[in-house]
Amino acid sequence: MNSIKLVVLGSGCVGKSSLTIRYVHNEFIDKYDPTIEDMYRKVVELNGDHFMLEIMDTAGTETFLAMRDLYIRNGQAFMLVYSITSRTSFQELEQVKDQILRVKDVTVAKLPIIVVGNKSDLEPERQVSSQEGENLSSKWGIQFLETSAKTNMNITAAFEHLVAQVQKKTLGSKRK
Ligand code: GDP
Ligand code: MG
Repeated sequence: MNSIKLVVLGSGCVGKSSLTIRYVHNEFIDKYDPTIEDMYRKVVELNGDHFMLEIMDTAGTETFLAMRDLYIRNGQAFMLVYSITSRTSFQELEQVKDQILRVKDVTVAKLPIIVVGNKSDLEPERQVSSQEGENLSSKWGIQFLETSAKTNMNITAAFEHLVAQVQKKTLGSKRK
């Protein structure tokens, strides 16, 4: 079975762990230790192919900052997460994108990558409009989705979009 190394990146508290745990265990945990970095595995079937998805849930604390280069270097697919309730987290995605660019040495449009605006259930606290999310992603030439780990909105769609992109790349190179 092919494995896919997927890395979840973004500022603290945007819901990286919540999205991951929702997808892997279909649970929503209200308080998850923000310093925990962990790898989760899930078998995914897409169009008859099976993949072992290895999801690296990063924490981005000082101690782990140097580790992030390593995760990015080894990663094949990337989920860039901000919270629609935090403009700062939205602005900080630029640095994450630049780090990927630096480590991978290719433009993000060439990678299996998605921008995710999480906490879409918190409409009254929204600081970043859907249009702004769309605009940033199309500027970078990549896909965009708003999600909610709490209500389970678009979680599967976001992860499986990445799986599909990796699948397309792998099949493409096999045919060569
Ligand atoms: P991380 O630091 O990016 O891993 O963020 P966490 O997954 O630990 O989530 C930070 C806080 O936001 C926690 O209290 C979560 O329960 C909450 N949270 C995460 N995702 C959502 C969401 O989609 N909706 C709401 N309302 N809260 C969320
Ligand atoms: Mg976390």
